[in-house]
Amino acid sequence: MMRLPEFSYLAPVSVGDAVKLMADHGPEAMFVAGGTDLYPNMKRRQFEPKVLVGLRGIKELAGVRGDHRAGLTIGAGTTLAATSRHAEIAAHYPALAAAAGLVSTPQLRAMGTLGGNVCVDTRCNYYNQSHQWRKAVNFCMKKDGTICLVAPGSSRCWAVSSSDTAPMLWSLGASVRLAGPTGERVVPIAALYQDDGIQYLTKQPGDIVTEIVLPPADGARSIYLKLRRRGSFDFPVLGVAATLHLEGDTVRQARIVLGAVASLPREAVEAAHLLVGERLTPEVIGRAADAAYRPAKPLDNTDLTHPYRKKMVRVYVARALRRLAGLPDEAEA
Ligand SMILES: Cc1cc2nc3c(=O)[nH]c(=O)nc-3n(C[C@H](O)[C@H](O)[C@H](O)COP(=O)(O)OP(=O)(O)OC[C@H]3O[C@@H](n4cnc5c(N)ncnc54)[C@H](O)[C@@H]3O)c2cc1C
Ligand code: SF4
Repeated sequence: MMRLPEFSYLAPVSVGDAVKLMADHGPEAMFVAGGTDLYPNMKRRQFEPKVLVGLRGIKELAGVRGDHRAGLTIGAGTTLAATSRHAEIAAHYPALAAAAGLVSTPQLRAMGTLGGNVCVDTRCNYYNQSHQWRKAVNFCMKKDGTICLVAPGSSRCWAVSSSDTAPMLWSLGASVRLAGPTGERVVPIAALYQDDGIQYLTKQPGDIVTEIVLPPADGARSIYLKLRRRGSFDFPVLGVAATLHLEGDTVRQARIVLGAVASLPREAVEAAHLLVGERLTPEVIGRAADAAYRPAKPLDNTDLTHPYRKKMVRVYVARALRRLAGLPDEAEA
C-alpha cells in the first residue's frame, strides 16, 4: 500500500489568510482543494510538500453567481459534480456541464473542484508511476531526475495537459481571477498556461485561482468530446472543445481547443479561422478538421498509441463540428 508522507494541514477560512499562510511557508507549501489529484501524487512522491494549505473551508470560493445574460462566475472551490448539475450551467453552457461531468468517477467529482481541475498536474507514462518504478528507471526531469525519458535529447518536459474542463473553458472564452501576495487580477484562461510539462501554469505558486468567469452565453453553440480507453473513469487522451457563434447559418465566431495533445490546451486557430464566414457544410467541416489534425503532435507518453491519437484529432474535430451543425456522425452518414 502506498502511504501519504507526513505533512501539516492548515485550514484557513478566508482567501486572504490562505495567501498569507502560503507566503509564510514558501516553497515547502502547496494548496490543496479536493485532493483527488494531489494526494495520489503525494503517495507516489511526485510532490513532497511539508505543509498543505487547504482551500475547502473557504466559503467565498464555492458557489455560482450571475446568469447567462451577464455571464457566470463560478467559485474555484465548486465541485465538479455541482458544476455539471448547476441549472444555469447545464442550460446555457451545456458543454462545460458535460466536460465537468466526464471527469473521472462520481466519487472524485463529488470531491474534486473546478479550480483543481484547471490547475491539475500534467501527466506522462514515465511520471505517473510509483516511487519504486520511477527509481528503477532513474527518474526523469519532472521529478528527481535529469533527462526526459520520452525525448532523451530534449531539454524540456513534454508531460501532457489532461484537464477536461480547461480546453472547454478556453473555448468558451473564460477568464480566471487570481489572488496572491501582490493582490488580485483577472486573466484570460489561455494566459494561465504555457507549453512546458513542469511549469505548465504561468501563475506563481502562491496565487490562488479564486473564480472562473464565463462571458455571456450569447446563444453560442458548444460541445466537448472526450477520447479515453475506459468510458467510466479515465483521463482524456484527446479532448475536443468547440464553441461557435452563428448568424443564421453562417459562422460569425469560432474557437476550437484541443486537450491532451500538448503540455497545455492547444487552440486550433487555423481550423477555427476556416469556419468563419462559412456555412457548416461537410466540406467546410472536413477542411477545418484537417487543419486541426496537421499541427497536432502527440508523443508516446500517454495511453493509446500516438499515431492513433493524432488520427483521432481529425475524427473528433469533424464529429464535434458535425454535431454542432446538426449533421449525423461521419460513420452514420
Ligand atoms: C483515478 C483518477 C482519475 C482521474 N480522471 C480525471 C479525468 O478524467 N479528467 C480530469 O480532468 N482529471 C482527472 N483526474 C484528476 C482530478 O481528479 C481532477 O482533475 C480534479 O478536478 C482535481 O481537483 P481537486 O480539487 O481534487 O484538486 P487537488 O488535487 O486538490 O489539486 C490539484 C492541483 O491544483 C492545485 N489547486 C487546487 N485548487 C487550486 C486553486 N483554487 N488555486 C490554485 N491552485 C489550486 C493544487 O495545489 C494541486 O497542484 C483523475 C484523478 C484520478 C485519481
Ligand atoms: S515528458 Fe519526459 S520529463 Fe516529462 S514527465 Fe515524461 S519522461 Fe519525464
